[in-house]
Amino acid sequence: MQRVKKGDTVEVIAGKDRGERGEVIKVLPKENRVIVGGVNMVKRHMKARQQGGQTIPAQIVEKDAPLQLSNVMVVCPACEERTRVGYRVRDDGHKVRVCKKCNADIE
Ligand SMILES: [Zn+2]
Repeated sequence: MQRVKKGDTVEVIAGKDRGERGEVIKVLPKENRVIVGGVNMVKRHMKARQQGGQTIPAQIVEKDAPLQLSNVMVVCPACEERTRVGYRVRDDGHKVRVCKKCNADIE
């Protein structure tokens, strides 16, 4: 079971965006990385180019760059604190993540 899932709110705990929060857009499990919306933006300089007979001017595109999974922590939706994640098995056999701070389930 993944510690961080798509749709989670996470807080960055290291690097230049430390303290920033955002929603997980994508988890890259093989690379141990996550893409978080609006965090770790990198600027890509696009040269002017031709496309379909039109000239597209040079522009700067901002893109979300992946973050190391170890550099983010899940923000608990119940207590809104960044927290370590535990696990428990509910009565129906479904395994859920649990906030270590307030013991709320994190779906
Ligand atoms: Zn909590």
